[in-house]
Amino acid sequence: MDKRRILILGGTTEARELARRLAPRDDFDVTLSLAGRTIDPAPQPVPVRTGGFGGAAGLADYLAANGIDLLIDATHPFARQISVNAEQAADRAGTPRIRLERTGWQAVDGDRWTRVATLADAVGALGAEPRRVFLAIGRQEAFHFNAAPQHYYIVRSVDPVEPPLTAPSVDYILARGPFAVEEETALLRDHRIEVVVSKNSGGEATYAKIAAARALSIPVILVDRGRQGGVTTAETVEEALRLIDHVASAGRKRGV
Ligand code: NAP
Repeated sequence: MDKRRILILGGTTEARELARRLAPRDDFDVTLSLAGRTIDPAPQPVPVRTGGFGGAAGLADYLAANGIDLLIDATHPFARQISVNAEQAADRAGTPRIRLERTGWQAVDGDRWTRVATLADAVGALGAEPRRVFLAIGRQEAFHFNAAPQHYYIVRSVDPVEPPLTAPSVDYILARGPFAVEEETALLRDHRIEVVVSKNSGGEATYAKIAAARALSIPVILVDRGRQGGVTTAETVEEALRLIDHVASAGRKRGV
C-alpha cells in the first residue's frame, strides 16, 4: 500500500501530539515543519524540517515537489501569516488541508478579563497610570509595550527578548511551560503584579496564569484570536485523527 504523505505545520503541543499519534501508522509518512524560532526545540516523534518555505508560493512548491497528500495546519492560533500561506499554498497545489486549532479559554466566575483584538489594543488597555504588568505573550511581540514605558513589566518567554525592550523598567524570566497554578500564583504575588497580559491561546499548558490571576483577583487583558473561515477544523488531536482518516480514505477511493 502506498503511504499517504502528510505535512504538519507545527510549533504547538497539539502538532507534536498529533505527530506522535501518527508516527506508528504504516499507512502514513509524516513530516513536521517548524519555523525554527525556538533555539532548543523539544524532541519530535517524526522527521522534522525547519525554517520558512518562502511564502505561500514556496510552500506550494514544497507540497508539489514532495508529493504531499494532506496538509495539516496545526500552528498556533496567533501565528497568522503561516495559516494564510497554508490556505493559499493548498489551493495552488490542489492539496487537501485541515486546520487543527484548540479552542480559546472561556471566562468563568471570578475572572476579571478585558478582551481586546490586538496587542496594540492591549497596550492601550493598560491605561496611563503606571502599573505592574506580567507580560506572558512570548518574545516576538513584546516590543509593542515599548509604547507604554510608564509601566513596570515582567516578560516571560522561552528564549530571550531580542532586542530587549526600551521601556526602562523591565525584568525578564526565561521559562518553558507547562506551569503549575501554585508557581504562577507565587510569581504574581511575589512581584506584586497588578495586571496580566495574555493571548487567548487556549489549551492547558499556559492556563495556570489565568487561574492564578483569578485566585488573586488580578485583572487580565486578553487578546482575542482572529477567525479563520473556510477550512475543515478540528479542535482536538482526536478529532484531527478522525478527519485525517476520512480525507485519506476519500483520496484512496478517488485513486489519488
Ligand atoms: P507567523 O507570523 O504566522 O509566520 C511567519 C513566517 O514564519 C511564515 O510566513 C513562515 O515563513 C514561517 N513559519 C511559521 N510557522 C512555520 C512552520 N510551522 N513551518 C515553517 N515555517 C513557518 O508565525 P509566528 O507567529 O512567527 O510563529 C512561528 C511559529 O511559532 C509557528 O510555527 C507557531 O506555531 C509557533 N508559535 C507561535 C506562537 C504565537 O503566539 N505567534 C505561540 C507559540 C508557538 P515563510 O513565509 O518563509 O514560509
